[in-house]
Amino acid sequence: MRDSIACPRCDQGSVDQCRVLSTQSVIWVCDECEALWWSREDVGVSSFADLSVVLESMGVRVSWDQLKPLLN
Ligand SMILES: [Zn+2]
Repeated sequence: MRDSIACPRCDQGSVDQCRVLSTQSVIWVCDECEALWWSREDVGVSSFADLSVVLESMGVRVSWDQLKPLLN
């Protein structure tokens, strides 16, 4: 069963757990607006980061290819 959450930021996408392939970091990211959270408990309106900003800060190329969805 997939463990996804309706995105509280854009109300359109779903927030899914993903692994960043090159760093093995586990993140939660919206498939529509690319809001990013570090844990499920953090997913909320005000506490999001931006996927591209976080990947750049890790030195990771900004692409969905870099993310592996973790399906539960
Ligand atoms: Zn969203």
